[in-house]
Amino acid sequence: MKNVILWLFGLEESALSDPVVVAGIVLSFVLIAAAAAVFVILGVKKRYKIHAAGIKVWNRTKLIIQSCFFILTNSFMVGWLKGGIYQGKLKYMCVPGMNCYSCPGAWGACPIGSLQAVLDSFDTKRSWLDPETGTYVKAPLYWVAVYVIGIIMVFGAICGRLVCGLLCPFGWVQDLLYKIPVPKLKLPRDERLILNSKHPKATRVFLKIDKYLRYAKYAFLIIMVIFLPLFVKADPWFCKYVCPSGMLIGGIPLMSMNAELAAAAGNLTLLKICILVSLIVISLFLYRPFCRYICPLGAIYSLLNPFSLYKYGIDDSKCNREKGCSACARACPMGVDPVKNPNSPECIRCGTCNATCPQKAIHAGFRFKTAEGNALRTKKRK
Ligand code: SF4
Ligand code: SF4
Ligand code: SF4
Repeated sequence: MKNVILWLFGLEESALSDPVVVAGIVLSFVLIAAAAAVFVILGVKKRYKIHAAGIKVWNRTKLIIQSCFFILTNSFMVGWLKGGIYQGKLKYMCVPGMNCYSCPGAWGACPIGSLQAVLDSFDTKRSWLDPETGTYVKAPLYWVAVYVIGIIMVFGAICGRLVCGLLCPFGWVQDLLYKIPVPKLKLPRDERLILNSKHPKATRVFLKIDKYLRYAKYAFLIIMVIFLPLFVKADPWFCKYVCPSGMLIGGIPLMSMNAELAAAAGNLTLLKICILVSLIVISLFLYRPFCRYICPLGAIYSLLNPFSLYKYGIDDSKCNREKGCSACARACPMGVDPVKNPNSPECIRCGTCNATCPQKAIHAGFRFKTAEGNALRTKKRK
């Protein structure tokens, strides 16, 4: 048992003589058990059935799921108490969301950080001497394909952006910030909603800016996550120069607990803190700016969203769009109209439209028919 715990926590036996470490281990087990119990209760109460829950209950349920998943994946309490990071074997696994490797509580690695690290492995640092030929061999391409891209593809192919809606810590942080009651900038796509807004002209301008800025996340993915680490300098460019998620749950907690790290902070840290603060401020007014415009992981999942097994579908026989209803489009915080495109790349599967629809015409899951046998439309409306 002791050996299993030591292996699991990546600790040496001598570490157990430290009461803080022991307390950390106990706390980790308590937190994991509590989070798992909450998931079981939500399952037993069928709170995952968004329709039945209704919007108020679903919003609460969503927040509970996000919080519990954060606790599950960041409950290495030894790290939080001692100011270090987990270095055991579980760290080879990627978690589905933007969860920084350097977060003191993180059990797993961030897929985007890992992707850059693996691309970085084309560098000679990871080469080895081939005893037969006497030459240095670089890390082969299949490392990339099999390991990190494979894991991201599996998450994306099964869940699509459901990861963004429910499992990503930085998505959760932005959700919490958006709950702070200040005036909100809403950018509806539906023509009637634009006309009904207070300033239709300004709304159209913002909508145009928003539309083009959403492509920026693909640029971040291609340039900072793939091209620069691979061809220019073996560095995790996105993590090093941009990632506010890493700064918030990795950099700041570590620096606050480690005087040496804090002393070593320079202009780069300042730049990243400025990016983080800007994003925090924008998140108060605009729903999930990082997910809309910057996140490279969101970019990958958004490309997979229309093809993932988890889908949204519209029961056109129930939908009242033709009679003037647009409750779902009005409720969508990402500016998606689910009736027009239920599997839009921009849909983060937050369930808001689903829980709002008075007709229960929006369905989420792995099926293409409703319980009554009605066919669900998963494609764009023509
Ligand atoms: S877009 Fe990125 S940061 Fe936002 S929820 Fe998805 S994975 Fe997380
Ligand atoms: S809220 Fe429901 S009924 Fe109304 S337009 Fe959307 S899907 Fe159709
Ligand atoms: S379409 Fe529905 S599930 Fe998708 S982001 Fe909008 S409200 Fe959330």
